[in-house]
Amino acid sequence: MLDIKTLLFASIAARAGFALFFLLFSMVGGARTAFLWWLLSISLSCQGLWLLYGSSASPSPEPLEGTIIYLIFGLSIACVWKGGAAYFDRRIPTAAVILAALGPATAYGGVIQVAPSEPFALVPVLLLMAFSLVRAALVFCNRATWRSPSQWVVVAALFAYAVALASSALLLFLTLQGADSTAAPPPPDHRQYALFVDQFSSTLIYLGLIAMTLEHAHAQLKAHAATDPLTGLANRRGAQDRSVALLGERSRGGRPMAVLLADIDHFKAINDHYGHEAGDLVLKAFARRMESVARPQRDILARWGGEEFLIILPDRGGAAALRLAKRLCRAIACQPFLAGDQAIAVTVSIGVAAFRANETELSTVVSRADRALYRIKSDGRNQARLDDEVQDLKDGGAPAAPLARAS
Ligand code: GH3
Ligand code: MG
Ligand code: MG
Repeated sequence: MLDIKTLLFASIAARAGFALFFLLFSMVGGARTAFLWWLLSISLSCQGLWLLYGSSASPSPEPLEGTIIYLIFGLSIACVWKGGAAYFDRRIPTAAVILAALGPATAYGGVIQVAPSEPFALVPVLLLMAFSLVRAALVFCNRATWRSPSQWVVVAALFAYAVALASSALLLFLTLQGADSTAAPPPPDHRQYALFVDQFSSTLIYLGLIAMTLEHAHAQLKAHAATDPLTGLANRRGAQDRSVALLGERSRGGRPMAVLLADIDHFKAINDHYGHEAGDLVLKAFARRMESVARPQRDILARWGGEEFLIILPDRGGAAALRLAKRLCRAIACQPFLAGDQAIAVTVSIGVAAFRANETELSTVVSRADRALYRIKSDGRNQARLDDEVQDLKDGGAPAAPLARAS
């Protein structure tokens, strides 16, 4: 085992490195407040370690010095906890944070007044610190805050640290009580072990916090790349990506699947007459009405481009998809859209196509829906139509059924 000075130097140097990272993240990242708390936590822990292990004269601090040291460690743990709460935008009870921050120092100072024995005072200190670490870990691992696998690193490291502290407290207690003759006294180099465990756990916690933030930023970038900023629906790329999983499910289960390609009628005229901003409002409101008609949890709703929208319907064949398309036509036409004090009447034309047994490409089915849409646009708008009817006419088969009108 390395000597205490070397370990302390390595520990403080590693923390300084992490502190630089955290400073950077607190300046540029999206979780500024959280990183400021964690930066404060690192700075406090450096100070605490220096006070605890820096003076080699005595392994045990003076009562006042010890109280200050455990105040610093308590504050440091409370800062990790506060940072987690800020990162996940969660509220934590102020009283619990104050207990985490002041509890160890109060216990140390109090016990040492009554029984001037440092090991005896350490038992409640270690237990309180372990308890605070567990509370902090819980912020990172509850269902509402679950975001990325690297959170497990943070949670595991916080729990492991808590277990190490609680075990040390138990060992100390048994040794002091002499209740268990098998309990070994602390080894002579226990300070090195303690510093080593601290360094190992802290490194894992800090690495986990950084990895967690990077993972979250990556996931956000991915989500942005797949989302239409105006309507909040998936964009074309997002819809294509998400359809891959659905197509896989479909090929395994042989279930029906269909698409709706909806194009707002005379949208250019809406822009020209009411202005581009009003046009944007119509597009947003159109998306919300689409959501109210479809099943946003199950169906894929996307802005396919401009004033065109796509809905991918798993578990629905052509007939069911056509029924939904007609409902959507009615939902759009029945109530004008509001842009400021203007009411804008809007209609939509919808081409519908169902996946055929051998079809595995989204693009081919969308092309068929587009063909149906093209026919509607030339035959009159505000309608929904299945592509099979277009196919019948094109192939010279029986005349198609009249267009399925929305009303
Ligand atoms: P049709 O009934 O045949 O579909 O006619 P249309 O006017 O809807 O179709 P056209 O393709 O001629 O015009 C589409 C218009 O949509 C043109 C374009 O300026 C407008 N547009 C595309 N994207 C946006 C957008 O994000 N916001 C607004 N306000 N307008 C958009
Ligand atoms: Mg169009
Ligand atoms: Mg249009």
